[in-house]
Amino acid sequence: MKQIAIIGGGITGLTAAYYLQEQIKEQQLPYEIKLIEASDQLGGKIKTVQKNGYTIERGPDSFLIRKASAAKLAKEVGLADALVKNGSGGSYILVNDKLHKMPSGSFMGIPTEVRPFLFSSLFSWKGKFRAAFDFILPKGEPVSDQSLGLFFRRRFGDELVENLVEPLLSGIYAGDIDDLSLMATFPNFYQLEQKHRSLVKGLNVMMPKKKQAKGVKKPSMFYSLKGGLQALVEAIEVRLNSDAVMKGVSVDQIERMDGRYHLSLDDESVYEADAVVIASPYFAAQNMLRQYTFMDAFNDMRATSVANVVLAFDQAAIKQDIDGTGFVVSRNSSYRITACTWTHKKWPETAAPEGKALLRCYLGKPGDEDVVNLSDEELEEIVLNDLNKTMHITDKPEFSVITRWKNAMPQYSVGHKERIHSVMEQMKEHTPGVFLAGGSYQGIGIPDCIDQGEAAVTKVLEYLKS
Ligand code: FAD
Repeated sequence: MKQIAIIGGGITGLTAAYYLQEQIKEQQLPYEIKLIEASDQLGGKIKTVQKNGYTIERGPDSFLIRKASAAKLAKEVGLADALVKNGSGGSYILVNDKLHKMPSGSFMGIPTEVRPFLFSSLFSWKGKFRAAFDFILPKGEPVSDQSLGLFFRRRFGDELVENLVEPLLSGIYAGDIDDLSLMATFPNFYQLEQKHRSLVKGLNVMMPKKKQAKGVKKPSMFYSLKGGLQALVEAIEVRLNSDAVMKGVSVDQIERMDGRYHLSLDDESVYEADAVVIASPYFAAQNMLRQYTFMDAFNDMRATSVANVVLAFDQAAIKQDIDGTGFVVSRNSSYRITACTWTHKKWPETAAPEGKALLRCYLGKPGDEDVVNLSDEELEEIVLNDLNKTMHITDKPEFSVITRWKNAMPQYSVGHKERIHSVMEQMKEHTPGVFLAGGSYQGIGIPDCIDQGEAAVTKVLEYLKS
């Protein structure tokens, strides 16, 4: 019987364990799996709290519909009827302390239609004029990578980037747009420029506009689940053989001995495996394989910290309500929060009981990461102060749920793709049969992590059959 260890019970490790178990059953393979998770709970960053009829996400709240693997997995584990789509109200950008409607026809902040941008209050005439250079500028020189900031500033100028692109993209990665790698985050934009020169024109070719009938709502972009995303974690967990999961045990080191791997666990025991999927963050992986100098490539990687503060209110306490699902904050505003979601409007079926409002705010950005070390009272006060600049809230929250995510957002800085490729190539040579997968490596979104978990299954099976 061959042993397969999967280290880390976040969505990546869970996916790998689930699909491996399916393959083992289907092909009647003489393999056993063991999912080893350091904490007492599976799910990693996916954590849902149910309180007083509210569904509160401490970590991710949804996944992109466009990337199919997450919905596919949810359906396979019996959650087809639990999938819910986001309410598609408008969203806003806070620039210079004022809320502006997101111009329609923008994709990740890049215009696909001229009119809404021309009439948007988000930009000055000078900024609009500069953004139009995209139509005439030549394509950039081919390069292996560049920062998102450099790329978009060159095409559209600083104003469009700072007032729209940056708050949207930095929000996803909790990073600095001038450090983040274009090729590891949105390589399609680079390819569009190389092919069509103008990004606006390229996007129009790539995503031809479907005429939207008047009064018909914009299609939803995200799925969540009734009961929150933890429902996915629980549905996978109940389908795994109970002896396949070890919780509350962490892997300290992985050593290769006689063609197998010895995993030293923190309970002083050793687990022997023939193949290993490391589905933990990069710093944990680096520590497990610390005897290999090629893992030093991760010395150049960092992970940033954010906190989220969820506040529950009576809807009547919010005097100045906003018709939309939330806003992101540009760096040129005096706010300390970086985004706020009106969760009860984004997820009207699931987030809050009738007549209640659930607001979820993020804190922590480059230069203000220490904010996560403040006390709960301080964080709540900062959030309420910021919110009261745009919404008039008359009552104290019914309750709050505060989550600190320290070093939880891996940064894909310029050169990330090559760095990961080089580590994986070295692993093929020095640690064959050990594979990296997860949010630190080839995509942070839940569907990206699921894709990596599935890819790891293929790699493990190919390796063990070879
Ligand atoms: P993790 O979830 O980090 O799981 C890794 C697991 O490994 C953990 O459980 C950890 O305990 C375990 N581990 C670590 N070291 C060891 C060890 N030595 N031994 C054993 N186990 C170990 N994505 C979206 O698609 N949509 C969103 O809305 C979204 N919002 C987000 C909001 C926040 C606040 C955060 C932090 C992330 C968000 N993301 C979102 C990103 C997404 O949640 C993550 O990228 C994804 O969940 C990572 O999954 P993972 O399995 O790769 O890693």
